[in-house]
Formats: sequence, C-alpha cells, structure tokens
Amino acid sequence: MCNGMGCKYERRSGDCSWGGGMPFPKDAACNDESEPMDFNYYQNKAVTTDQYEDDRECALGLASEAGELAGKISKAYLDGNGRDDLIGNIDIAYEIGDTLWYLAAIADRYGFSLQAIAAGNLLKLASRKERGKIGGSGDYR
Ligand SMILES: [Mg+2]
Repeated sequence: MCNGMGCKYERRSGDCSWGGGMPFPKDAACNDESEPMDFNYYQNKAVTTDQYEDDRECALGLASEAGELAGKISKAYLDGNGRDDLIGNIDIAYEIGDTLWYLAAIADRYGFSLQAIAAGNLLKLASRKERGKIGGSGDYR
C-alpha cells in the first residue's frame, strides 16, 4: 500500500503545490493501483505520451529540460539565496519530472528498462564507493 508521500517537503514548508494553486496530490507517489510508484510503472505510462518521430527530438528535449532545471537553480544563486529559495519549490519538481519523462522515453527507444538502469546505476556507484573511485572521471572506473 502506498504511503502517499508525494512531496517530502510538504510537512516541512506547508507550501507544496502543483502550480496554479492546485494542491500537491497526496497519492502522487502511488500508481493507479495505489501501490508505490516504480520506474517500470512510470516508464510504461510515460511512453504512451511519446509522440516524437525522431530520437533526436527526444535528445534535444532532454537537453532542454535539463537546461530549464539548471537555469532555475543557477538563477536562484545569481538572483537570490541559492538553494534556500528552491527547497520545496514545485517548479523544480516540474523540471525534474520533465527531464525524467525524456529519460524514460529515450531508455524505451533504446530497449532499456528505466528500473534496470536505476538499479544498475546504484550497483555501479556502490562498486565505485567500495573501491574508492567515487571521485575522478571515466565511464568505466
Ligand atoms: Mg520543463
């Protein structure tokens, strides 16, 4: 059963909404069967809205959404108080979600499960940490 913890900052700030004054759904972290959301469920649902014909449109969309996210963070530091201005700001969640959609679509187009990618990435990071290779560079370190 889903615990409905859609927004980790809801309790902290009391100001978590989906823009336009709509309250953040209590069950936003649940799927249609009221089970906890997972990457497989998300990817399967997300790709039903993929209307791009060319993979390059997805690649550019991903770069664009990642740029929107980076821009909001950068602007908060340039014009405001940095992270403090964005904690619990739903616009950041929107941009992360937009970026996640493109990642799901691209993974699907290349035959990968987002769930498997997430699990594999954690394994890779655990291995690097164990071997003292978190810092540095190189895809296969
Ligand atoms: Mg966006």
